[in-house]
Amino acid sequence: MTSGKETKVINSGIIQIDKLRKIYRLGDEKVIALDNISLQIARGEICCILGPSGSGKSTLLNMMAGLEKPSRGSIIIRGHEISRMNENQLARFRQKYIGFVFQSYNLLPTLTALENVSLPLTFRGVKKGVRDKQALKMLTAVGLKKHRNHKPAQMSGGQQQRVGIARAFVSHPTVIFADEPTGNLDSKTSSEVMQLIVQMARQNQQTLVIVTHDAGVAAYADRIVHILDGNIAQIENITETREMKNEV
Ligand code: ADP
Ligand code: MG
Repeated sequence: MTSGKETKVINSGIIQIDKLRKIYRLGDEKVIALDNISLQIARGEICCILGPSGSGKSTLLNMMAGLEKPSRGSIIIRGHEISRMNENQLARFRQKYIGFVFQSYNLLPTLTALENVSLPLTFRGVKKGVRDKQALKMLTAVGLKKHRNHKPAQMSGGQQQRVGIARAFVSHPTVIFADEPTGNLDSKTSSEVMQLIVQMARQNQQTLVIVTHDAGVAAYADRIVHILDGNIAQIENITETREMKNEV
């Protein structure tokens, strides 16, 4: 990491996406999921990727998380070019720096809430006593201390997503990616979940990238990146708008 270009990248954003393109091939057909995306996300920013179904949001998020390889372009997170990492490097990178929140919660059905939350710590080799203590602290923070011994099926959708949030934040990742985190929730539960996730990210200046098709969800962000047909259509600075409104 000594070249001038990379140093500049580190300074300009925790996530740096440059001319990103992703093409899927289905037989003879080419699907351009992402055409040409360049974007920087700052440390501690809450950034929302907003767009209709099929616009390329999940593709973009999956590539930021290193789950898929770009057809062209680069993604740099914390100064690391993740599109060049091998699977082992990626797995370690994710364990150390990245948390995920999923639309369908992705909790393990046979584990309790506490065990689900402590799972990322298990992968990091944290001892059981410490793990349980940290997981319980997180469950308490999301208001589910009493539910620590419940299995996912014994909780509502909103409660399961709060467990999902506790799990994403338990290892204090630098970046949290959330793909349609409120997609399966009613509107009241959605706003509770959004308030929680934003509050958790703000507390430790963590960077939060949320993908959604719901403008109501996007309103919680500092910045909304509108995507359409695999391109950025518009970038809206919400924080500045909010500050201007407050000044009036
Ligand atoms: P969104 O999350 O915004 O709904 P996606 O990123 O899932 O959109 O998909 C963007 C486009 O890429 C869509 O046209 C979709 O059908 C296509 N696509 C996504 N994943 C694949 C895949 N694995 N193979 C082929 N096409 C895909
Ligand atoms: Mg999607």
